[in-house]
Amino acid sequence: MRQHLAHVGWHLFTAAAVVSLVICVAALVIWPVGHWRRLYFKYCFGVTQIEIQTEAGTLAVGRYEFPRAVPRGWGGATRDLDADSPSGPFDFGRLHKDRLRPDDNLYDCVWCPHWFVVALFGVMPTVWFVRFRRRRVRLLKGRCIGCGYDLRATPGRCPECGTIPRLPRNPPMQRTAAGTGALK
Ligand SMILES: [Zn+2]
Repeated sequence: MRQHLAHVGWHLFTAAAVVSLVICVAALVIWPVGHWRRLYFKYCFGVTQIEIQTEAGTLAVGRYEFPRAVPRGWGGATRDLDADSPSGPFDFGRLHKDRLRPDDNLYDCVWCPHWFVVALFGVMPTVWFVRFRRRRVRLLKGRCIGCGYDLRATPGRCPECGTIPRLPRNPPMQRTAAGTGALK
């Protein structure tokens, strides 16, 4: 059971690392664009709209609440950089604009330096890669992937941490059993 959980954990970690890597790469790709033009993507849910914008090395996520529903959908555009475009490598902040009149939009925004997002979402893929390498090296050397203990004397189960090495192929017995089941 614990063994099963360890494998599930590894798969979940792999999935999370892939998502993290995609965000990291996307942030890396749009980063230089923001130094040339303001670039934003938005998705409107009706009343709520979420916007992601990159501008002169700063990445911002904003949320609008409109007074009434507008058409749903994706959008995006580039605009000229403002003279007062946020700048500086340590520009973190948030902004909240309340409705002053019922017809106003409610607006929330948080922003941070672009490098921060790239670094933040780069951590998990890096940790994943280090662990992946370690598992590979241990497997190739006949060591336990859980703790690194030498398993050449006890290949069935790690005497140190109890990890049961996964078999690299389907055991023939299982295939026979599955075949018999299919015939019935
Ligand atoms: Zn072990």
